[in-house]
Amino acid sequence: MNILLFGKGGQVGWELQRSLSVLGQVTALDFDSTEHCGDFSNPAGLADTVRALRPDIIVNAAAHTAVDKAESEPDLARTLNATAPGVLAQEAARLGAWLVHYSTDYVFDGSGTRPWVETDAPAPLSVYGRTKWEGEQLIAQSGAKHLILRTSWVYAARGGNFAKTMLRLAQERERLTVIDDQWGAPTGADLLADVTAHAIRHLQQCPQDAGLYHCVAAGETNPARRPHNSRLNTQKLQATFGLTLPHWQQGVARMLQEALA
Ligand code: NDP
Repeated sequence: MNILLFGKGGQVGWELQRSLSVLGQVTALDFDSTEHCGDFSNPAGLADTVRALRPDIIVNAAAHTAVDKAESEPDLARTLNATAPGVLAQEAARLGAWLVHYSTDYVFDGSGTRPWVETDAPAPLSVYGRTKWEGEQLIAQSGAKHLILRTSWVYAARGGNFAKTMLRLAQERERLTVIDDQWGAPTGADLLADVTAHAIRHLQQCPQDAGLYHCVAAGETNPARRPHNSRLNTQKLQATFGLTLPHWQQGVARMLQEALA
């Protein structure tokens, strides 16, 4: 199986390099890769890459994830989060390849108190959420075989994220002020990458299970990150792929041990 991974240097991309390696030959690219284009601001270049490498599976971990910055550069956010994944989906459809992609709870408006299910109607509040939703729609409309995992509050020992910012500030300051009115589950990049690998194997046997799934760690808590209700219901994913999602505290404890070692 030939796998083409985009965004290899991000939190999830880094872990995917590990988890996908047992499934086949992985070609992993970043925005500055030289041999093949991995730059999402150049969708035509991405199409050339797919045509040259003819992968069986494309996994896209690249995105414009800077939520605040996206408000002031909506065109770039749209290109990275919607146009480029849409082009990858078209190329996947032409080839008969799979496209695996990640999205976010930010497609929802964060209202209510029950965990969001896949059939709930998106109503994004931000440029980031809107462009990620557009990306989902372009993939769904492309006719490509696809898997979209919507997740939330991704962290890793490597890369920038809320947990690491808090660790740094805790060392620098006597007191920390944190918004605490938002609910969701911190999800390790390692967990997401492992679920992705399992799901890809499953889909080779059961292609009818393609589609959109919510994928977050179990349990819930409330650190700082909008929107208010970021809870995602994961019953569909656990039932379809036969997976158990661990409580988020397990992954955070492991990450803290790693980061503080
Ligand atoms: P990261 O920001 O860690 O990774 C995104 C990667 O995309 C980075 O390596 C970034 O490079 C890269 N990138 C930026 N611009 C370009 C470009 N022009 N061309 C190619 N690559 C580029 O994000 P995560 O790993 O956390 O996110 C993975 C997926 O999960 C994304 O689809 C994201 O939307 C989704 N998600 C993430 C959440 C989170 O809390 N982080 C929550 C919900 C969903 P560089 O770092 O050099 O800019």
